[in-house]
Amino acid sequence: MAFNSGVRSSLESLLGAAAVSERPVADLWPLGIMRRRAGHEPPLVQVVRPDSAQLVCRLLEWAHGAGVQVIPMGGASGVCGALAPTAGQVVLDLGALDHFEIDEPNLACRAGAGLNGLRLEQALQERGLTLGHYPSSLPVATVGGLLATRSSGQESSRYGNVEDMVMGLEVALPDGSLLAARAAPRSAAGPALHQLWLGAEGRIGVILEAVLRVHRKPETVIGRGFRLASVESGLDGLRAVVQAGIRPLVMRLYDPTDSAFQGLEGEGCLGLIAVAGPGPVAEAEAALVEKLVAGEPLGEAPWERWQRHRFDLSAERLKDLLEPAGSYVDTIEVATSWTQMPALYEDVRSALAHAADLVLCHFSHAYGQGCCAYFTFGGSAPSEDAAQAAYQQAWAGAMTATLRHGGTISHHHGVGQVRQPWLAQEMDGWLQAWDRIQAALA
Ligand SMILES: Cc1cc2nc3c(=O)[nH]c(=O)nc-3n(C[C@H](O)[C@H](O)[C@H](O)COP(=O)(O)OP(=O)(O)OC[C@H]3O[C@@H](n4cnc5c(N)ncnc54)[C@H](O)[C@@H]3O)c2cc1C
Repeated sequence: MAFNSGVRSSLESLLGAAAVSERPVADLWPLGIMRRRAGHEPPLVQVVRPDSAQLVCRLLEWAHGAGVQVIPMGGASGVCGALAPTAGQVVLDLGALDHFEIDEPNLACRAGAGLNGLRLEQALQERGLTLGHYPSSLPVATVGGLLATRSSGQESSRYGNVEDMVMGLEVALPDGSLLAARAAPRSAAGPALHQLWLGAEGRIGVILEAVLRVHRKPETVIGRGFRLASVESGLDGLRAVVQAGIRPLVMRLYDPTDSAFQGLEGEGCLGLIAVAGPGPVAEAEAALVEKLVAGEPLGEAPWERWQRHRFDLSAERLKDLLEPAGSYVDTIEVATSWTQMPALYEDVRSALAHAADLVLCHFSHAYGQGCCAYFTFGGSAPSEDAAQAAYQQAWAGAMTATLRHGGTISHHHGVGQVRQPWLAQEMDGWLQAWDRIQAALA
C-alpha cells in the first residue's frame, strides 16, 4: 500500500493529479475475459494519461530510475493478452497523443500514437485519401497499437500491412530518451531500425508518433462473388490472381461452413474479389480475375453484402459472445505457403473440431508466396474450468499443426500471452537475438 501511494504521488507530481487514475486494465484476450467471468479480476493499477511526448519521456525517465515498469496502452483492443499489467506496473494511456497532419502532395501523414484508427481514416477520406488499413477493429484501435502488433487490414492485398505503411517513427526508449521520426520515401542509411518497434508489443519503449504513407482513393471499385467447388480449387484461384500480378483490393475465400454463414446457398465455397483503380484498369482486371478464378460467377450481390457486414465482428460482439457462463470463442490467424495451405487447413480445422462445437475458416491477405488462414472456433462447456480447458486444447492443437506445416503462428494479431508457449519454435535462434535487443534497450 505504501509502495502504491508513493508511486501515485510521484506520478501526480510529474503529470498532474488529473492525469492519474487507478483501475483494472486488460485487453480483449478471450481467455482473460473468461477468467474474469469466472471471478478472477485483474489487479488495480495506476493509469496515467500524459498529453505530450515530452511528458511521456519524463515519465519513462522517472520510472526507469525508480524501477517501475511502464506498459503502453492504445485502444486495449488486442486479442492476445499482450496488455495484462500486473500489480505495481504503471499503464501509460496514449489516448491524448491524438494529433495528425496530412501532407497531401507527398501522400503522407503524421499521426500521434493515441489517434483512433477510424478517426484518421475519416479525416483522410474527407480529402479523397485513404491509409488503406482496415482491420475489423479500426473503430477501437489506435495508430500506436496497430503498429506495435504488426496489424493487417482487410485491404492488405492492395495496400500492404502496417509495416509497409510506415515511413518514419518517433519512439521513447525505456529510459525516456527520444528518437525522433525521420521519414523518407526510402532509405539505405543503415538498417531500418524503426521496424523493430513493429510487433514489439511495447517491450522496447513507446511509439509516440508515426509518419505513414497514404493513397488517393481509387476511382473505381468492382467487387464480385464466385462459387468455387472446394477449398483447394478456391485457393488455386486466389493464387492465380496474385501471381498474375493483380493486387486486389479485397480477396477472400470462405470454407463451406463459413460460406453458409456468409449467405451462400447450396454447395461449395464463396470467393470474393474486388479490384480497384482507374475505370478501364479496374474493368480489365475484373475481367481477368473472372477468367483466372474459374468459378461460377455470382455477380455483385455477395460483395455488397460483405461490405455491409465488414465490421460486424466488433469488440462489443466479442464481449457478448463470451458473456454466457461456459462459453468460449476465439480467432486464430496463421499463414503458410500456397502448397502447404490445403494440408494446414485440414489439420488445424480437425484439431479445432476436437475441442470446439463450431469451426469456420476463411483465407485472405494473399501474397505471391502464400496466404493467411483465419479460423474462428467456439463452443459451450458445462463449467468454467471445462471451457478454459477446451479453449487451451484448441489453441495447442492449432499451433502445433501450423508449425508442422511450416506456417507462422501469427499472421497479424501478435504474440501476447496466448502464443508465448510456441514462440521459441517459431523464432528459433532469432528469439535469443530479440531477447538481447530487449535487454540492451531496457
Ligand atoms: C473485434 C476485433 C477485431 C479485430 N480485427 C483485427 C484485424 O482485422 N486485424 C488485426 O491486425 N487485428 C485485429 N484485431 C486485434 C487488435 O485490434 C489489434 O491488435 C490492434 O492493433 C491493437 O491496437 P490497440 O490500439 O487496441 O492496442 P492495445 O490493445 O492497447 O495494445 C496492444 C499491444 O501494443 C502495445 N502498445 C499499444 N500502444 C503502444 C504504443 N504507442 N507504443 C508501444 N506499444 C504499444 C501494448 O502494450 C500491447 O502490448 C481485432 C480485435 C478485435 C477485438
